[in-house]
Amino acid sequence: MTEPAIRACSGFRWQGVEHRPYKEEGSAPFHAISRQVLFEEPALGCELRYFEMDSGGYSTLERHEHMHGVMIFRGHGHCLLGTTVRAVQPGDLVTIPAWTWHQFRATAGEPFGFLCMVNHQRDRPQLPTAAEQAELRRVPEVAAFLDGR
Ligand code: MN
Repeated sequence: MTEPAIRACSGFRWQGVEHRPYKEEGSAPFHAISRQVLFEEPALGCELRYFEMDSGGYSTLERHEHMHGVMIFRGHGHCLLGTTVRAVQPGDLVTIPAWTWHQFRATAGEPFGFLCMVNHQRDRPQLPTAAEQAELRRVPEVAAFLDGR
């Protein structure tokens, strides 16, 4: 059972909340990103996590059956959703539907953080095959995003 009330610390940390690696190293491509799980009570049915990237960091390009509800919390970045790339800033909301390719990238020069709501019980993410990556890259904005340009 989580503590009923947890204080925020400076630097986008929370008292007693472990600052973890984003994923197991080598499990999927990602860069310079951390994970803090803020709420994970099974009875809630969902979890709220805070992900933060350093300048130039990015999350894994993936898709899955479960959805995400995302609120940008800190800094600026870009979000790939399907074949659309959007600039995002604090307060923006992003709904990631089932089976939609998605990835977040921090804008160079500052950390970028977002809150992500997700089902407690969820399927494992899929990574794109070479053919699926090639298909995504047919959209010039998507290719530029994937190359960090
Ligand atoms: Mn995901």
